[in-house]
Parts: sequence; structure tokens; C-alpha cells
Amino acid sequence: MDVRDAFYIGGEWARPVGTGIHEVVDSNTESVFGKVPQGSGADVDRALDAAAAAFGPWSATAAEERATLLSRISDALGARTDALAETISKEVGMPLALSKIIQVGLAVGAFADAANALRELRWEEEIGNSLVVREPVGVVGAITPWNYPLYQIALKVAPALAVGCTVVLKPSEIAPLNAYALADAIDEVGLPPGVFNMVVGPGPIAGEVLATDPRVDMVSFTGSTRAGTRVMELASRTVKRVALELGGKSANVMLEDADLDAAIPAGVFACYLNSGQTCSALTRMIVPRARLGEVEDKVVAAAQSYVVGSSLDPTTTLGPLASAAQLERVRAYIRRGIDEGATLLCGGADPPDGLDKGYFVRPTVFSEVTSDMAIAREEIFGPVLVVLPYDTEEEAVRIANDSDFGLAGGVWAADRDRAVRVARLLRTGQVDVNGGAFNPSAPFGGYKQSGFGRERGRFGLEEYLETKSVQL
Ligand code: NAP
Repeated sequence: MDVRDAFYIGGEWARPVGTGIHEVVDSNTESVFGKVPQGSGADVDRALDAAAAAFGPWSATAAEERATLLSRISDALGARTDALAETISKEVGMPLALSKIIQVGLAVGAFADAANALRELRWEEEIGNSLVVREPVGVVGAITPWNYPLYQIALKVAPALAVGCTVVLKPSEIAPLNAYALADAIDEVGLPPGVFNMVVGPGPIAGEVLATDPRVDMVSFTGSTRAGTRVMELASRTVKRVALELGGKSANVMLEDADLDAAIPAGVFACYLNSGQTCSALTRMIVPRARLGEVEDKVVAAAQSYVVGSSLDPTTTLGPLASAAQLERVRAYIRRGIDEGATLLCGGADPPDGLDKGYFVRPTVFSEVTSDMAIAREEIFGPVLVVLPYDTEEEAVRIANDSDFGLAGGVWAADRDRAVRVARLLRTGQVDVNGGAFNPSAPFGGYKQSGFGRERGRFGLEEYLETKSVQL
């Protein structure tokens, strides 16, 4: 049992103002495996005092000094990989081997990458008679979700600290233990007091203080479109800078000459990764009607090859969902898809055989789905793939863009130039062509209701910078 009784404020472990406790549940067993205090507005208030006081001196440190500290945080996190991966696998449900690489590895990499991007940052340039300088935006309130909990934290904390901002982090209550491990790592490295602070608490209380308090210069939020909209409304009162990384319903377009033997297993993986609890999951597979039968056979074979079970069992390839609420939500969507008249190819709302405890869902695929159905429009956040047939390339693009979201996408075609042409037509922040590999230096973020702002690499650093013109 991992029991924590304090928040990280002003460079030390500080007792919470209130006495509330939040239990952390193992998604495999439904048993409590950790406890954290439940923070209040008063705890966030103390953290903001510390962050505001630390901003001046921290922003005045040399960039190289900050880069060195970030590299040390990366190392300190990396040294905790095994324990962290197990914690996150229990919190979220991702199979352990993948957790090590993705949940922890990407977070470790994000701190190292921010150090490297900082070393290459151009801090000033001359435009005519002006010296244009970049400066840190100030105190950052970071609010993060549970699905890639440590990675989403790293994507905010690393670039903000890199450019000289101070941070108050409010991680998700569903997966807070990994944030404690980061605070341990930061404490070990020895950042100046107040540069990084962490308070756990309910979003509508602790999160809303970050969105409203005038000491916060920027609020960077990752989570649902519903909560992101609320944060943006609250932040507007003090005209804070806002970055929103929100939900998605991303399309994977198979053009008629696509290599389906490669595209279908890769497409199912891109939907089912982390049990479908991925903002950029490719959940809508858009396929030529002339090849629908072939697609259906291959997609069912790929889906049924997943082994559902405990995220800690090395044979598992599809772990549980993170919470009981998430399980109910996903099952409700599966029932809704059936009611809407979509064809259930495999899976369904019943629990997988022999898994009565834990938040498990069968790998599910619907076909003959149309864009007006809720299962094609709304983010399900579970292992549920929907297949939508099209007749012409123009129709495929229209279906792909017929979404309130615009986070990610995929295009598969034998002709790469044709795939790139279609990729340019998709109204989304990123598109993978023929399964193009994840690039940690490439900007990541959304169009439309998937939010705005970019994370990772140089673009990620620039989110946290102000721009000043000095006329000479
Ligand atoms: P969520 O319910 O919106 O929660 C996200 C964070 O916001 C949590 O820390 C939550 O606190 C807090 N929060 C909730 N209500 C708030 C409010 N009124 N004011 C301030 N903060 C508030 O989202 P989630 O269920 O954790 O995460 C899943 C969602 O995140 C999905 O929609 C997914 O697509 C999205 N996501 C997007 C990206 C991206 O990069 N675009 C990446 C990952 C996830 P508590 O829950 O602790 O109360």
C-alpha cells in the first residue's frame, strides 16, 4: 500500500489543511492500493504563494543550469522505472511491459528532450530597430488527466520549468501516485523551493482555483472537452493564457490500394492501446466499401488476437479500464451502438469470460457505422473500434472531417504522395502516414474541440514564453 499524507509545497512535504483522504484503486482487482490526501483551495493557495515567490529567482537562473537540473530529473525518474510502471499499470490498466516504455519511458524522455530543446532555443532576435526577446510567462497551473498520467504531467512541467516558469501541478485523483514519484524525484534533485509544487484534489475545487487565481499567469490543461471548456471560461476572467489538450475521435483512412495486412493490425493497435484510453486513439476506421468484407475479416482477427487480463500478467495485451465509472461509460456506448443499428462484429457489453473483478471490457468492433451515430461522434475511451465505409476518396475525407474533434489521424495508401495529399486535407493536429513512427520532437495538439496549444519539442517550449519588443 502506497500511503501519502502530504503535498509538495515550497520544496518540502507539507501537511494538508483538511483531513479528507482519497483512495487509489487497482483497476485489475478493484482493491485499494494507495491513499492520498484530498486537497482544498487553501492547499492550492499555499502552493501558489510558493510558486509566485520562486518565480523571480528561478526565471533569472542560467538556461544551462535549468537544462542540467531537467536532465537530472529525467535520470531520477528513469531510476524509478520499474516501480512507476507497476503503479501506473494498476492505476490505469496498461500492460506492464508497455507501461515501462510508454507511460514511464516517454515521461523520462520528455524531461531530457526539454533540456535539449532549451539548449537550442532562440531567446532573442532583431527585427528592424527592435530587439525581440522571449521571457517565461510566469506561474503555471498544470491540470492533468489519468490516462497517461506521468507523461501528461511531464509534457507540461518539463517545458515550463525549462524556460524559467514555476509550476503548481494538480494531477488526476484517479492516478495520483505517479505524481508523488515525480515529486520525490524532483526533491532528490533539489530544485529551489517553490519552483515545483503539487497538490492533489478534486478538479472542481483544486483545479478551479488554478483556473481563477490571479497569481496564475497560464493554465495548461489536459483532459476532457467538458472540463477544459470550464477551465477556459474561468481563466478568461483574469485573461490568463490557456493551453487546452482535449479529447479526440480520430479517423484512420484506408485508401483503396492500402496494404490491409499491415494497415488493419496497426489500426486496431492504434485504437486499443492503453485499452482505448488514449486521446489520439484512431477510433474511426474509414474504409473503401468495395473492400468492406476483407476489412471486416481482418479487423475481427486482429481484435480477437488480444489477450484480456491483468495489466501485471506478462501474457496480457489488453488490460482493464481505469475505473468503475469508465467501465460503465464504455459498456453504455457499446449498448448504444447496438441500439443505433451498427453491426457488432465482435466483443460486446458483457464482461470477458472469467474476469468478474476488475474493469475489463471485451475488444469490440462495430461495422456499417455512419457519422450520425453517437459511437462515431463521441469519445468512448475504451477498446471500441468503429468501421465506416465510403465510396469515393472525397467522401472518405468528408467523413474523416465530420467530427467536432481534430486531434490525430491516419492515412494508409500504396502511393505515399497520395497519402500525404489526403493527410493535408484532414483537419487535425497530427496525421500518421502508413503507420509513421511517433516523433517525440514533433508538436502535438489539437484542432477544433480537441483544443489549442502544442506540446513537445521547440513548439512545446514556446507555449510558455512571452514576447517583448525593445525598440532601439
Ligand atoms: P477530466 O475529467 O477532464 O479531468 C482532467 C483533469 O481536470 C483532472 O485533473 C480533473 O480533476 C480536472 N478537472 C475536472 N473538472 C475540473 C474543473 N471544473 N476545473 C478544473 N479542473 C478540473 O479528464 P480525464 O477523464 O482525467 O481524462 C480523459 C480525457 O483527457 C479524455 O477526454 C482524453 O481525450 C483527454 N486527454 C487529452 C490529451 C491531449 O493531449 N489532447 C491527452 C490525454 C488525455 P479530478 O479528475 O482529479 O477531479
